[in-house]
Amino acid sequence: MTRTSLQCRECKKEYETAFKYVCDDCFGPLDVKYDFPTITKDMFANREQTYWRYFELLPIENKSNIVSIDAGMTPLVKAENLGKKLGLNNLYIKNDSVNPTFSFKDRPAGVAISKAKELGLTAVGCASTGNLASATAAHAARAGLPCHVFAPSNIEIAKIAQALSYGANYIAVDGTYDDANRIAAQIGDSKGIGVVNINMRSHYVEGSKTFSYEVAEQLDWQVPDQLIVPVGSGAMLNAICKGFEELQTVSLLGDVSNMHMIAAQPHGCAPIVDAFKNNSKEVIPVENPDTVAKSLAIGDPGDGRYVLKRLQQYNGFAEECNNKEILDAILLLAKTEGIFTEPAGGVSVSVLQKMVEQGKIDKNDKVVCYVTGNGLKATESIMEILPKPTVYQPNIKEISAVVQ
Ligand SMILES: *Cc1c(COP(=O)(O)O)cnc(C)c1O
Ligand SMILES: [Zn+2]
Repeated sequence: MTRTSLQCRECKKEYETAFKYVCDDCFGPLDVKYDFPTITKDMFANREQTYWRYFELLPIENKSNIVSIDAGMTPLVKAENLGKKLGLNNLYIKNDSVNPTFSFKDRPAGVAISKAKELGLTAVGCASTGNLASATAAHAARAGLPCHVFAPSNIEIAKIAQALSYGANYIAVDGTYDDANRIAAQIGDSKGIGVVNINMRSHYVEGSKTFSYEVAEQLDWQVPDQLIVPVGSGAMLNAICKGFEELQTVSLLGDVSNMHMIAAQPHGCAPIVDAFKNNSKEVIPVENPDTVAKSLAIGDPGDGRYVLKRLQQYNGFAEECNNKEILDAILLLAKTEGIFTEPAGGVSVSVLQKMVEQGKIDKNDKVVCYVTGNGLKATESIMEILPKPTVYQPNIKEISAVVQ
């Protein structure tokens, strides 16, 4: 007997776990369903400081198949300074900029590649807006598997350098993320490659659930009131909801239904925010995304419809911010909390600010703001608004005049 099966998100038909991700009957996406053992808080007390500490809640049957680069268990920072600035008494930053490949994508990539190993696949890959390329390539390197990355050609240079260094076969597509995604889907299926966020997606999203497990444990098993989540494809937001629901199922948390989920997108690629504000159930794709937040530049979000459902289920909101607001928010977070994030994290912080201004968050709410990537991955954009350092001769008198 295996611990998991796959279940269609739409018609609920169940399947045995396999290299499979859509329903034969209705083409709905398949989610992992668990037969959970008894789980207690004490179980986690002495475990490894990585997300694999939640093994019983993850879809790997045999521990020997785990491919780990020690990601997860990142800090949940009590943001006193930023909180004071915004008038919030209980603001927390979940700082995933410090993961091994410097973004939260180490969570889904690690679980998908472990499952690919368990299913006996001999090659892996991904369609990426930048961060997933490195996360997949690093885990593939650790697993000794070849890795094929498909990404738009205009992503940040640091992200390309990183994925290439881990040894990925890097295919830069002259087009949008959606173009790269379409090609990755076809090549993945025809060549039997485990494309982590496409044909391995059912398992991929399970990794992002650990974002909920860690936050819950770090809050001493309390449910947050407000969660601000940056949204590209929407897989992460959906997975965070699933994670909290499972903790309720195994009785580690009480009722989670009063959480508020807030989706944050950049202006120039905010199809889910547009749909939310228009009260629409369908997401109209953005043909040519144009934003400094390149990791969120997904014009046709795969889980867009489900994010809208989640916002409805969890008393949520969706809000966007423009390039200037994103860059300003990066600096605000850096200067108040010493955390340097990439534009996706700036989107979270900027939308957090807007929610406070709009009166959507109470000053005593327990707020968790997800910061998902590292600022060193996207220095091009922030340099545009920073002063260029003046160069001085190494002369004490001259320099001491500017140190006041
Ligand atoms: C991919 C990514 C996101 C968005 O995740 P989705 O699951 O596509 O919604 C957010 N932040 C960063 C830094 C990312 O790389
Ligand atoms: Zn179905």
